[in-house]
Amino acid sequence: MSTAGVPPRAAAVVIGSGALGSATAYHLARRAIDVVLLDQHALGSQTSPRAAGLTSQADPLPVLARLRREACDAFASFEADMGRSIDYHRSGSLRAAYTDAGERRVREALATAEKLGIPARLVLPAEAERLAPHFRAGAPRAVLHVPDDGWLDPARLAVAFAARAAELGARTLPFTRVTGLLAGSGRVTGVATDRGEIHAPAVVDAAGAWTARVAAGAGVRVPLVPVRHQLLVTEPIAGVEPLQPIVRIVEASVYVRHEQGGLLFGGYEDAPRVVDAATLPPAFQIADLPLDLSVLRALIDEVGEHFPALRTARVAVHRGGLPTMTADGRPLLGRVPGLEGLFVASGCCVGGLGLSPAAGRALADLIVDGTSDPDLSPLSVERFRGRLEDGAALEAACVAQYARRYIR
Ligand SMILES: Cc1cc2nc3c(=O)[nH]c(=O)nc-3n(C[C@H](O)[C@H](O)[C@H](O)COP(=O)(O)OP(=O)(O)OC[C@H]3O[C@@H](n4cnc5c(N)ncnc54)[C@H](O)[C@@H]3O)c2cc1C
Repeated sequence: MSTAGVPPRAAAVVIGSGALGSATAYHLARRAIDVVLLDQHALGSQTSPRAAGLTSQADPLPVLARLRREACDAFASFEADMGRSIDYHRSGSLRAAYTDAGERRVREALATAEKLGIPARLVLPAEAERLAPHFRAGAPRAVLHVPDDGWLDPARLAVAFAARAAELGARTLPFTRVTGLLAGSGRVTGVATDRGEIHAPAVVDAAGAWTARVAAGAGVRVPLVPVRHQLLVTEPIAGVEPLQPIVRIVEASVYVRHEQGGLLFGGYEDAPRVVDAATLPPAFQIADLPLDLSVLRALIDEVGEHFPALRTARVAVHRGGLPTMTADGRPLLGRVPGLEGLFVASGCCVGGLGLSPAAGRALADLIVDGTSDPDLSPLSVERFRGRLEDGAALEAACVAQYARRYIR
């Protein structure tokens, strides 16, 4: 075991350099906090770069609406602020529904957008097809257009935050595994790693699929479940352009956007594969996760009439990762009760990338100032105290949040 390069102490340690951890480390470094960002694998290499990169401002929960809006502003000015491109496209989005229940969801989304002052309106099928020529709208009950939604290149985000954090003085330690949390008298005092100990009064568990496993080492329960989520990208298709809107079909819970001249397609099946992180071998990385193209093929069969090109186009990329689901479909962000000085940024519910700039800013403020704006308490682990302590019940509740996510 080499201890070379492991600082013995820091003001804060962030475990995990995905979008959530790297954004937190960046904001701590920006506030001149002596922060160490470490990862068991290469920086920003696990679930974050495998995402679809969709962003949205709307959320019915006020704290998430505030954070999502702040995040979208950060994406729009990312290159100017950070000196790095994330290939952000304000393409807009379309959300189409074909049943009573689907129409209700679309109208709820419209009401939420109107309440938050986000431009959004219902459009006729012909206009939807004009905006997204690869989309055959058919006979929808409602189609919502949100012109300010967009997407970014997921592979660039976490590494950009980590690189900028390093420029501001953060120490980044790839290939450094946290093997335990150091604690005493009810508070965290640092981390044990496979390269030595780092003592710090504040530790952030942003370990993605491994979040609960990291916390469990100190006897702390973080109630979330890693769930496999997949997407594919086709070979280029004539007429598909970057600024055509993202299209979502509510009932099937699928999304489609431009990628490299082709279509990126992903969706939320009924019975996703759940992974127990406690059973993963130490060397496991997301690249080792078994994928199953038949899940996406079945979803394409459901919506093929709306995206004829998907039926025939060759698949150029098939990827997937382990986002973490919570029992109420909302992230876990803030203090971890039971161990003073321990914070969590996880439970992304397949939306952590789009939240990360604001989640990292708010968490850094909470660590440095003791408070944050907005108040993060609605996202605290505390909301699950005494609930779903049985693993099977937690898994069932988390899967219910994932399955057909747009129509729940
Ligand atoms: C196919 C797909 C599509 C998606 N689409 C979207 C989308 O459109 N929009 C969106 O916002 N989100 C999307 N997501 C979700 C998004 O990818 C996640 O919300 C986000 O990546 C979560 O980031 P993270 O930092 O929590 O996790 P990760 O990126 O997995 O980072 C966690 C890090 O912690 C490290 N780690 C774990 N344990 C330890 C340890 N013991 N010691 C040291 N390091 C450790 C890991 O190595 C890893 O690098 C999608 C996900 C998938 C898979």
